[in-house]
Amino acid sequence: MSLNKKATLFLVATPIGNLSEVSERTLSVLRDVAVIACEDTRNSIKLLTHFDIHTRMITYHNFNEKESTRGILKFLEEGKDVALISDAGYPLISDPGYELVNEVIREGYDIVTVSGPNAALNALVASGLKTIHYLFYGFLNAKQSQARKELEELKDFPYTLIFYEAPHRIEKTLKLALEVLGDRKACLARELTKMHEEYHRGTLRELCELRNLKGEMVLLIEGKEKKAEEIDHDELMEEIDRLVNDGTRTREAVSEIAERYGISKNGLYNDYLKRKKEL
Ligand code: SAM
Repeated sequence: MSLNKKATLFLVATPIGNLSEVSERTLSVLRDVAVIACEDTRNSIKLLTHFDIHTRMITYHNFNEKESTRGILKFLEEGKDVALISDAGYPLISDPGYELVNEVIREGYDIVTVSGPNAALNALVASGLKTIHYLFYGFLNAKQSQARKELEELKDFPYTLIFYEAPHRIEKTLKLALEVLGDRKACLARELTKMHEEYHRGTLRELCELRNLKGEMVLLIEGKEKKAEEIDHDELMEEIDRLVNDGTRTREAVSEIAERYGISKNGLYNDYLKRKKEL
């Protein structure tokens, strides 16, 4: 539905390290809006100065979202476009903006997203863990007891889990994850898009051996693998279909699924062909 109110709130993703990842559209939106709302002007000024952008900045914080929201709505009421940015990546993704977006939707102004980098997705696609379904969790609670409860809730979740974590907590978090989730495949992606970008891929137990982890990091952990007896037959057929539709040969697709769930290749192949004939 197109709205009649004139002003627009732009949700603009900004680089997560490498400034050359900024797009032309990002720059033109940041130049053209009346105001840029950011988390911390001291951080965002670096980006804006680098690109010679002199748009007025105001702060938008988690701790005063209500008040900041009112301020931004005032600009929109005056017909002025506003861009919301965070220190890095997408606003609202483990960053402020949720309150604002909902108020702006309620008030009927347009909202437009301007695409860009996001640490979780960068990490996911390079992790080697399954990408077809995943859960972005963001930060676990800073208190270990709460974090443990959160991990307990995620324990049986069958899809890749993605967490943001701070360097001073990562060793504890890895240990806790090993304790609660068991030894699963995992990846720690560090300093994405920056000079020292690196990926530690292994199991949680192996990652627990790492020391002096610095910089910004994303932790990815494989979802709970289903045991053969827990697998629904139709689900298996669908998984094979998905691989075949993505271009994998039928025999290879069957082998991959059979290996994944530890079941007989021949039996599965015959079942698959039989099902295809019946369809
Ligand atoms: N809004 C951001 C996004 O869209 O990705 C996330 C902001 S959140 C406050 C900051 C966390 O994101 C960091 O603690 C880290 O877990 C992750 N992160 C941000 N930049 C990163 C980078 N260059 N490499 C790895 N992780 C990063």
